[in-house]
Formats: sequence, structure tokens, C-alpha cells
Amino acid sequence: MRIIVQKFGGTSLINEERRNCAIKKIENAIKNDLKPVVVVSAIGREGDPYSTDTLINMVKSVGIEPNPRELDMIMACGEIISAVIMATSLKAKGFDTIAYTGGQSGIITDDSFTEAKILHVEPINILNSIKKGKIPVVCGFQGITEYGDITTLGRGGSDVTASILGEALGAELVEIYTDVEGVMTADPKIVPDAKVIDTVFYNEVFQMAEYGAKVLHPRAVEIAMRSNIPLVIRSTVSDYKGTLITNYDRSRSFREDTDKIVTSVTYIDNRTQAKILPNQMEYEDFELIFNRIAEAGISIDMINIYPNQIYFIIDEKQTEVLEEVLKELDCKYEIVHNCTKVTIIGNRMRGIPGVMAKAVSALSKENIEILQTSDSHTTISCLIDSKYRSKAVNALHNYFQLGD
Ligand code: ADP
Ligand code: MG
Repeated sequence: MRIIVQKFGGTSLINEERRNCAIKKIENAIKNDLKPVVVVSAIGREGDPYSTDTLINMVKSVGIEPNPRELDMIMACGEIISAVIMATSLKAKGFDTIAYTGGQSGIITDDSFTEAKILHVEPINILNSIKKGKIPVVCGFQGITEYGDITTLGRGGSDVTASILGEALGAELVEIYTDVEGVMTADPKIVPDAKVIDTVFYNEVFQMAEYGAKVLHPRAVEIAMRSNIPLVIRSTVSDYKGTLITNYDRSRSFREDTDKIVTSVTYIDNRTQAKILPNQMEYEDFELIFNRIAEAGISIDMINIYPNQIYFIIDEKQTEVLEEVLKELDCKYEIVHNCTKVTIIGNRMRGIPGVMAKAVSALSKENIEILQTSDSHTTISCLIDSKYRSKAVNALHNYFQLGD
């Protein structure tokens, strides 16, 4: 049985016209002798009546912070509405369909509500439906615990649903339909001349997602990579072929002459920089500081350690907790709010000297102060004041000629 998983994002289902575009994609798959399994996200964005953010705001309007278990119950409603609407729209066009919740699709998770991890998948209902000639329409973003509690998989979790079902069903291909024509050299909302990338390797797109490109959930890429299922990112409303995400061998032929050192620029907003200042600290003190930060559940990034100073960044939501920890330890520290981490990514950066110097020079030319840097074999990140975010992303995109 040749199975294809087709995932449609929130903006792909917003009205009848869009849903008809989605249905065309499903019809095309059937014409190509594939058995489609459809995964849907909640309809729309914040402000739209059944979007995830609207549902969260509704429960928060009660005035207290909702219990995460109950938060998951309400968040899961968005996809349930979406799946029923999509299944019914398909039925109206003569297709035999059946809608499933995450739980009914056999997606079993742990009980870390709002960020649940998938433990295993038992897609018995889906397989039985396909055998009966039905098109399963599955609620993305959700699962169920072994005890029957509804869980959600975190922001962008429908991408994870699509990949994990692709893996569990041995799908030939996973298609992610969204509001852009593919994975681009930068977020097109920030960079007007961002270009669609034809083919990209799993590890590059994984890094793009990890470093802020929200076009795809990083976990969805990891799952596809481990089971070697090609992922295609495409627009619901156009016929453009989109971006193929695959392993090195499959895409080699396309890439050899066109490879650039840098393939994309990404950013993550809402970072806080913390500087722990000299206060007659010893290395043992550093260890104590890092342990306390970890115990407080704060995850730190871009860690630079100097003889008696430490710089690092955190999610701004954790600033208060961090300050409590540092005060308790009697550290001298400084906090810089409103930071953005911009990153350039490229597999070919590995071993090529001077890329950091180029990135620094691209930003300096625009008078953008760099607060901190970090790098790996295939990424270089610079921390800047968020007010320069657009300027910085565009400057790097231009400097490395990604729009050409
Ligand atoms: P969906 O609801 O379909 O999952 P998302 O909003 O999660 O859609 O992802 C699509 C959005 O990702 C685009 O509208 C785009 O603004 C943003 N985006 C950020 N970085 C990139 C990138 N490098 N390539 C493509 N889109 C990107
Ligand atoms: Mg998404």
C-alpha cells in the first residue's frame, strides 16, 4: 500500500475556497495511486474563532492560570473542529472519509501536558480505514496518555503528527501544506526577497527550525530523518513544486554547482542576555551557579565563559526566575532585555575560515552592535538588540547573496 501523509496548516483551511484547494491536493494524490492520510491543524490564527490562541485566551479570561491538563483539553478542540469540517467537506465532494482525534489515531504520549512527548503510535484505526477505502482525517497536535488524558504536542505539533504517522504507516512521502511556497532563505515576512529553496538536507532544515524558522517543527524533521521519509513543504494555493527535504544522496545531483556557504538566515526574538560579573568567583562557583539555574528549570544558550565572567541567554519568560536564583547566590549580574538571536546556517560553512568575520562585518556596516556570538560547524549566531532584527536579517541575507 502506497501511503502519503498530507498535512494542512491553520491558514490552509480558513474558508471554503482554501479547503477546496486542499481537496485538490488530496485528489491529486489519489490520481497518483497514493492512499492519502490527511492531518489538520486548528483553523486560522489568533482572533479567528476556533484557533488555538483564541481557545487559550477564552479559558485564561476566567482570571486564573488554567491547569495544564485542562488547557490541553481545550487546546485539542481546535483540531477536532478542523478535522470534522475537513472530513465533511471531503464527503460533500463524494469521498468516503472518517475523522479521528489524536487518541483515536493511536498517538500515545507521556503526561507532560502542553509539551507532551510521543511514546509510541498504534495506527490500527487508520490502517483499517484505508483498507476500507476511506480517507482518514486526523487531528494534528494532539495525543492521549496511557490513562486516557488528552495531551498536546507543543506549538507546531501538527507537523510532528504528520511525520510520526508517516513513520508509523511506512508512508512514501509526507507533504506539509502551508501559506508559503516552501522553505525559504529567510522568513518572507521580514525579508521581501527571500527565495524558496529547492532542496535542503534534513540536518540543515532541522537547524533552521531549531534556530527560529517556524515553517516546520524541528521534531518533525528529526522523525523524518531517522526513518528517511522525504518531506515536501508546499503552498496549499499554488501548484509550485515546493521544497524537498531529504538526505544527502537523494538531493546531491541538484546541489553540486549551486551550493552556497550560507543557505539561510533565521532569528529568535524574546531573548534576555544575562552577564554574571566578576565578584571574586572561582570555577566551583560557576558550577554552583549552573547547577542552580538548571534546578530552576531555566534552559540557557549561547554560553560564553571568561576567566571570571559568564554570559548567556535565556527565554525572556524565565528572566524573573533567573534573577531570583542569582540574587539568592549573591551574584553580581546585569540583565539585557529585548534581544534577538540571528543565525546564519549552511552545511558548507564547515571548515571554511572567515565566515564569522563576514557576518560581523555585514552587521557592523549597518551599525548594528553585536552583544554576543556563538558558532558551531554549520551555524553562526549573533545576539543583537531586537530593534535591529529586520535590519540584521536583511543585511546578512544580502551579504551572503541569498536573494540572487
Ligand atoms: P502553518 O500554520 O501552515 O503550520 P506556520 O505559520 O507554522 O504555518 O509556518 C509558516 C510561516 O513560517 C510562514 O508564513 C513564514 O512567515 C514563516 N517562516 C519563518 N521562516 C521561514 C522560512 N525560512 N521559510 C518559510 N517560511 C518561514
Ligand atoms: Mg506550523
